[in-house]
Amino acid sequence: MSTINIKEPSVVIREKRLGTINAFTGTASEIVSRSAKGELKDCKRKFSQCLGCNQQQAFCQLAMIRDAVVINHAPIGCAGEFADFNFTYRVEQSRRQLPPALGRYYSTNIAEKDTVFGAAKKLEETIRLAYEREHPNAIFITTSCASGIIGEDIEAVADAATEELGIPVVTCNCEGFRSKIWTTGFDAAYHSVLRGIVQPSEEKSNKINIINFWGSHVFDDVIRRFGYEPRYVIPFSTVEELRHISDAVATIHICPSLSTYMGAGLSQLHGVPEVLVPPAYGVAGTDRWLRALGTILGKEDVAEEIIKEGHEKYVPEIDKLKERFKGKKAYVTAGAAHGQALITLLSELGMDVVGAAVFHHDPVYDSGDDKLDILGQAVKNYKDVPDYRVCNKQACELVNALNRIKPDLILARHGGMTLWGAKFGIPSLLIGDEQFGIGYRGALNYARRIDDTLDSIEFIKNYSKHASNPYTKWWFEQDPGYFQGDGSGRGCQTAGNGGF
Ligand code: SF4
Repeated sequence: MSTINIKEPSVVIREKRLGTINAFTGTASEIVSRSAKGELKDCKRKFSQCLGCNQQQAFCQLAMIRDAVVINHAPIGCAGEFADFNFTYRVEQSRRQLPPALGRYYSTNIAEKDTVFGAAKKLEETIRLAYEREHPNAIFITTSCASGIIGEDIEAVADAATEELGIPVVTCNCEGFRSKIWTTGFDAAYHSVLRGIVQPSEEKSNKINIINFWGSHVFDDVIRRFGYEPRYVIPFSTVEELRHISDAVATIHICPSLSTYMGAGLSQLHGVPEVLVPPAYGVAGTDRWLRALGTILGKEDVAEEIIKEGHEKYVPEIDKLKERFKGKKAYVTAGAAHGQALITLLSELGMDVVGAAVFHHDPVYDSGDDKLDILGQAVKNYKDVPDYRVCNKQACELVNALNRIKPDLILARHGGMTLWGAKFGIPSLLIGDEQFGIGYRGALNYARRIDDTLDSIEFIKNYSKHASNPYTKWWFEQDPGYFQGDGSGRGCQTAGNGGF
């Protein structure tokens, strides 16, 4: 299956490419089996409390390329994420002991009259201004709903600027309205890097690509044990480094939801093999992942050594903590693949994962390989998740589900989700760094943090007595999936609803 076509300026959106959905109510085993049969179909919500924009996801990958400029060809309102990502950029620079530098983000500030008379000239001027001020090694142009509606030839502007300035000026077509699956924005960013920056390599290097957000560098030791060097992409790469990511001996996914397109692009266009097993979460998952990496590198013996050492060093304490978690009910809310990895991790730690709200669902990844099916393997190796919903951060749905399920623990990756647990008196743990849970040490990290979080029960219960809740009695009497499909509470699975 080839899903990558860098001759086209725009990525094919996830709905079409992968059959991705963002609304579902059922069980984990149902969504797994319907995905395998190609039976999933998305449904509309009658009401949405919030939405994400795929422009923002594209920006989060491009904004931290250290010597590039990002120009948002959009009204100024679309630049809301500039401050947010500049903050993250600065914090993470300091964590990596890099010289402090501000993010170099520009907006063309498309105004009402530009939508009538055209905004291409503004874009040309902004490109020149950014180049004169910053002397970047590449410029990315992220598009917006407004630039998409005007429909000017931005590709032609970028091509002319590339010729004039002698650096790659690359479009990233990520208009918010192109896709309601906001992770399409990641794909748009990777598409622009693959088509505008990455060059074919004549020889392999000793590098392994780790496609990630801006997480901690937990792979350094393990990759060096295999005799290779880690290369974390895209945040904190330089344009020159990105040019050569095609020379890697392998690509590692920390979250296939993030990196499916880039991993498959490097594989299909440049022959870089992907580690096609679920990311290294949990002891069993880390064993499997190390063996898969060892096989790609032809170093199975090194993998076995690391596995043996990891078991000796970390598993006794993990086993001890597992005793404390027996019978505890857990609820997970996170992005799709990462949420599924957390389900695996919690299940292995002996918790009963009774519910999950993940932000979208990819029935398949760009590699087309079902060995990356994290949820399928979690269901097969552990238990089904009885309340599994695909819910794109609709807090009302989450709150309603939590009110019914009343788990002992909530685990979340995004801010703004755990506060609802606290309001219900449920100990809640927020871990933003996806790499925090990687490997044997990561499993112990989580076990320790969960142990601490469960100890906060008295405080959280006390807190909840004083918390207010904006939702009405009426809402709590409705099914959490009330706004999905026909309101039956079964998402789009109901017969006659155009669903499964
Ligand atoms: S690109 Fe569209 S959806 Fe995204 S922030 Fe701008 S107007 Fe909103």
